[in-house]
Amino acid sequence: MGFQRISTCRGTPLTAHIFTIDVEDWFHISDLDNTPLVGTWHEYESRVERNLRDLLDLLDSHGVKATCFFLGWVGEKFPGLVRETAARGHEVASHGYAHELVYEITPEVFRADIRRAKQILEGCFAGTVQGYRAPGFSITPQTPWAWDILAEEGYRYDSSLFASSRSFGGDPDAYPKPHVRPSGKSEGGSSGVVAMPLRPARAFGKSLIFSGGGYLRLLPTSAITFLADKLAQPDAPIIYYIHPREIDVEQPRLPMPFGRKFRSYVNLSSTRGKIAALCRRYEFERMIDWVEANETRLPTLSGRMHASA
Ligand SMILES: [Zn+2]
Repeated sequence: MGFQRISTCRGTPLTAHIFTIDVEDWFHISDLDNTPLVGTWHEYESRVERNLRDLLDLLDSHGVKATCFFLGWVGEKFPGLVRETAARGHEVASHGYAHELVYEITPEVFRADIRRAKQILEGCFAGTVQGYRAPGFSITPQTPWAWDILAEEGYRYDSSLFASSRSFGGDPDAYPKPHVRPSGKSEGGSSGVVAMPLRPARAFGKSLIFSGGGYLRLLPTSAITFLADKLAQPDAPIIYYIHPREIDVEQPRLPMPFGRKFRSYVNLSSTRGKIAALCRRYEFERMIDWVEANETRLPTLSGRMHASA
């Protein structure tokens, strides 16, 4: 197929690995009854600068370059952190401004949010923000309008599709491999946004996205690499996702129900070791680099494409 293929693991099908960071603070946890609203965020102690620098130090020590989806609010508060991230060779992308779930806001609010985040972040460094990830993977079948708005606001790719079940967000029926979302204005042409979904593996009788969130912290490294090797395919990278707070064992805890608390805080002390192990085992590339190398070969979404790919 001619896709760019990167992997050094002997015996493993060639595939790409992409490390992504949603750059937000410890109090930016969505879908709680008491999730702090944007107007109160300044009242909380911020730990994102130190945690992101620690994470980048770890990645840099292995020569790994990541894609960092910055909350616009974080860029507004810490423009030097955005500049430093780009200067260290990592990709600066957008996580929106106010961390609102896309299916809970109107198209107009969504447009204003992603526009504001892009403007703030591009004001921090000499480069262009081309990628977007929605809070809580909240681009779903409820938000078909989001794709056109992303294209119109100058975003080239999106990594908000989570092709499995979640307690909120996600879409188990989403086409799970990279593809182009035709823009309403392009009539099936190639000018739409590239979708970079989080793709599940079958494990324990379930469809499991093991490469981020609670599963990344809960599962042992051997299970994560087993699943990553099993899922390896040349036309669809393995996308890992993490938040800076996930290496911060001492972070304050937000009040939440037990099950959610377990998912949010389990095994925080294991995260660094797992990231280091993944960095040693695989080669990583930034999401924008994979999109640039493969964009013209990607299928355009059609009615025949479904989750069995
Ligand atoms: Zn987030």
